[in-house]
Amino acid sequence: MAPISTPAIVLHTFPYGESSKIVRLATREHGVLSAIAKGARRPKSRFGARIQLLSEGIAQLYIKQTRDLQTLAEFDVENQRVDLSHDVVRYASATAIAELVLRFSPEEPHPEIYQLLSALLDTLAEIETSRLAEVSLGAMWSIVGALGFAPAIDGCAVDGRAIGAGDADFSVADGGLVCATCARARETSRIGADDRAALRFLVQGGVASMIDDGTWSLSPKHAAAHRRLLSRFVRLHVAEGRELRALDFWEGLPWVATS
Ligand SMILES: [Zn+2]
Repeated sequence: MAPISTPAIVLHTFPYGESSKIVRLATREHGVLSAIAKGARRPKSRFGARIQLLSEGIAQLYIKQTRDLQTLAEFDVENQRVDLSHDVVRYASATAIAELVLRFSPEEPHPEIYQLLSALLDTLAEIETSRLAEVSLGAMWSIVGALGFAPAIDGCAVDGRAIGAGDADFSVADGGLVCATCARARETSRIGADDRAALRFLVQGGVASMIDDGTWSLSPKHAAAHRRLLSRFVRLHVAEGRELRALDFWEGLPWVATS
């Protein structure tokens, strides 16, 4: 049997047995999968040294559909993204995104999720530090949307009714903004007009338009509020209460000190 070859990004690794590693990979052609990298932990293994978190390259895999654990035969690194590991905020943002892709990707392959992940990791590695808070939020919302969990921000999350301009109510439980009628019977967070516009930009604008519009920014206080909102939303709708360590770390960083 010949190995298949696919672009892949390392999402997670952990030791296995005496000398091997288990690698969780996002692949473009075969979705997210687990593979054993035999001998990758031997002291002088060049193969093992290439398998670093968030690295992207061409994976040679032996895949059997009937197995949960595939075999990684080789990994040729094309983009190691070392810049991500030199800055705790970049690294936290990238690993929080990787965690979402690892835990909540659909079973079947989705090349567009792979491409988005790859582009977001590049952006997080390259964006200037002064823009990191906004871009990190935009990147997180993009991946949440790509995984199929975008919040409702155009109409009421409960009944689809239009929501008037200005301040609005966000219901994490209902998955987005809610109209005034629905808000009365619910626990909501009041969102000011500016933060509502910011949320729309973060969720719908995409990271590219955020970078194009270099003047768009959030104050540290508002950025922190947006991170809390995103975190609550992801915990309830995407993770359904399960623990997300990288997301916890991302939310809890002392962001202000880095700006
Ligand atoms: Zn409503």
